[in-house]
Amino acid sequence: MTMHKGSNLERVGRYNLNVVLDLIRRSVEGLSRVQLVESTGLSTQTVSNIVRRLLEEGLIAETGKVAGRMGKPRTLLRIEALSRYAVGVHLDPSIITCTLLDLSGAVVGRSHIPLRAVADPDQTVRVIAEALESLVAEHGVDRAKVLGVGVAAPGPMDPSRGVVIGPPLLTGWERVDLCEGLSEATRLPVFLDKDSSAAAQGEVWIGDDATPHDFAFVYIGTGLGSGLVINSEVVRGTSNNVGEIGHFSAGIDGPVCSCGRPGCVGLTTMPSYLVNCAVEAGVLDPASGEPDLQVTMERFRALASKARQGNDAAVGILRESATRLARAVEDIANLLDLDRIVFGGPSWPPVSSLYLPVMREALANRMAVGAIHPLDLVDSALAEDVAAVGAGCLVLNRFLSPRTDGLLLAP
Ligand SMILES: [Zn+2]
Repeated sequence: MTMHKGSNLERVGRYNLNVVLDLIRRSVEGLSRVQLVESTGLSTQTVSNIVRRLLEEGLIAETGKVAGRMGKPRTLLRIEALSRYAVGVHLDPSIITCTLLDLSGAVVGRSHIPLRAVADPDQTVRVIAEALESLVAEHGVDRAKVLGVGVAAPGPMDPSRGVVIGPPLLTGWERVDLCEGLSEATRLPVFLDKDSSAAAQGEVWIGDDATPHDFAFVYIGTGLGSGLVINSEVVRGTSNNVGEIGHFSAGIDGPVCSCGRPGCVGLTTMPSYLVNCAVEAGVLDPASGEPDLQVTMERFRALASKARQGNDAAVGILRESATRLARAVEDIANLLDLDRIVFGGPSWPPVSSLYLPVMREALANRMAVGAIHPLDLVDSALAEDVAAVGAGCLVLNRFLSPRTDGLLLAP
């Protein structure tokens, strides 16, 4: 168990409160006050005071009793999931996903808005604010219980200033102060994070935390990125732009990337590239007119569907892409001595069943430390909503967790 020790100093009261709240949140059956004292190292009196305050604020509830070691029954404490909420938004170049999470991180509601229906950043902010109000109203949630909004967006960005800086696939987003606009529109604190790092955060949040997690999250949307988690903490990097793996090379025999080099794995996993390969191979008909991102994503799903049905040419295209991705995965896993790579993002579910076996086979005898521990390649439990849920978890994390990785921009 990752243990965050408390401190009995008065001035770190909020930190201690979050240590206790985080432990209660992560326990499945609930925890007793005695267990909290044992786990945190805090005094009985401090734990008792914190628990009283959490009960008063409605953040936890007493639930059932279990027999204690000395015979005296102990009251268990659990999180009061419906006492607070967070909104998580994923701004993908093809679609906006809004999720409403309760305090336990469970998804209460979600909505999807195609981005082609949205003209510019200002309108995007209005659309997200409207989606938030609709979700809150639809699910009968008290608006005052909404803690904040987390937004996952493609990089590069400056999350400390809440600014998105010209993501390659979002035209008109050269330098957009997303947090300020959204904070004004919603009157809530807004957090911004890279889609791939938010996805990694979501995966940490739902993890059982039985052991400290070290893993990479390989995020496949309209582009490729990765989030890194070391010792259960999302690694941020100098400017919160960690994980740019798109230009990792998978060999000089590959197609030439926009960066001028051949074999970049970001290109060979990109849905638009794979759709073009499928057209060249006669698997898909040429698109009529200039295809937008959504049409491309529909055609990408059609390609994946043909491969799943056994179309040899379609299988060949995706096998080649998966083999190349495996080389990047190998480099990441070797660099950080990881034993787990989690895959997810909007473009991942259609190809998961094709890519995973190919990559497992490609890496079976390749890992430098393969004799010491295996490398597990797994699907994200949160599927295509992972970045939106992860963005909501940023808000919950800031509110609940003793960790200090929140990227708050106050309204
Ligand atoms: Zn490149």
